[in-house]
Amino acid sequence: MPLLPNDASPVGDLLPDLISLRRDLHAHPELAYEERRTAGIVASALRLLGLEVCEGVGGTGVVGTLHCGDSAVSDPQGQRSRSVGLRADMDALPLVELGQRPYTSRHAGKHHGCGHDGHTAMLIGAARQLARTHRALGLTGSVHFIFQPAEEGLAGAARMIEEGLFERFPCDSVYALHNWPDLPLGHAQTRAGPIMAAADRFDLTVRGKGGHAAQPHHTPDALLAASQLVVQLNTIVSRRIDPNESAVLSVTRMEGGHSHNVLPAEVKITGTVRSFDADTQDRIEAALRDTAQGIALASGTTVAVNYQRYYPATINTAAEAALALDAAEAVGLQARMAPRAAFTSEDFAFMLQRKPGAYLWLGQGGGDFGSEGSFALHHPCYDFNDEALPLGVRWFCEVAARALARPAVV
Ligand SMILES: [Zn+2]
Ligand SMILES: [Zn+2]
Repeated sequence: MPLLPNDASPVGDLLPDLISLRRDLHAHPELAYEERRTAGIVASALRLLGLEVCEGVGGTGVVGTLHCGDSAVSDPQGQRSRSVGLRADMDALPLVELGQRPYTSRHAGKHHGCGHDGHTAMLIGAARQLARTHRALGLTGSVHFIFQPAEEGLAGAARMIEEGLFERFPCDSVYALHNWPDLPLGHAQTRAGPIMAAADRFDLTVRGKGGHAAQPHHTPDALLAASQLVVQLNTIVSRRIDPNESAVLSVTRMEGGHSHNVLPAEVKITGTVRSFDADTQDRIEAALRDTAQGIALASGTTVAVNYQRYYPATINTAAEAALALDAAEAVGLQARMAPRAAFTSEDFAFMLQRKPGAYLWLGQGGGDFGSEGSFALHHPCYDFNDEALPLGVRWFCEVAARALARPAVV
């Protein structure tokens, strides 16, 4: 049964406006650090609720704070009041949308292909719901609604943290969700420990001298060395990493040469490494550097290595993952411990490096989601499923209520 448009849940009356808002955001996608229109809509919506609103945190980030009860007063043990951070991401992808909907992207080459329009609408919905219910619920403490820019590759969360996010808006714990097309609508999963992978990138440049293909003895063969390097790189995970650990190394691009009778002077290799454990990540990078230098020595070439660590692994703390699952169950979701982590990566990882917290996968696939079913994240036809809106709103609210009810942090 579709949950919309006559949703009888406690947030049902908020939905018509949230759906309009979500579709408006979808029609006007903005890329990383360009989310000015989106941030303006977020800030206005939060101000209307009477929240304290701070704009420009980490570029285009916005933080709204809801003070519940007498949150400024310490209790008799001298403990400060509790606080929780709820985070949504606001940016779209540089992708041409191919779906045909009334609210299809108005901006060519920009597409909300990861559902951050839905995340933003859900967190605004949670702010509306908590603003009108926190007194009746007897909540005490502060809820920080964190709307971050640039999740898609440009580390908006890290920039917000660098600009003092957690000093200016102290959070005992932080929570986020991502819509998950692989799970049916009404289901939710998370897990203690790693849930998303660390993502690294490597660029290798193999240099010889270049020369005539008929005179290989006059130049180190950069192309042959690069080929050997590709083969050796593919043995790192299988031969150098504990089989109990999970990791992936993929070479994704190789470029060099332009003629049948010229040995190229330079060949470039690019690829990615995914891992869940910092020690494994260190070992792979070290093995990659060793391999590059070994091949260079053996072939007479030089190999320049540029290894960049993008996002760290997203690692949930156990107590907060349990709270996230319990909250999901309490609002009627079929909540399960995720059997395994995903090898995709997530900017929220930077927040979890600083604070206890958890990241939830919220199902949005199958069922009544149109005849197309649910397209994968980052697919040109992807669309956020509006039927997931009330589920995310209620989960965020339940998480906040439970987080504020926990023993305070000294
Ligand atoms: Zn994405
Ligand atoms: Zn995303």
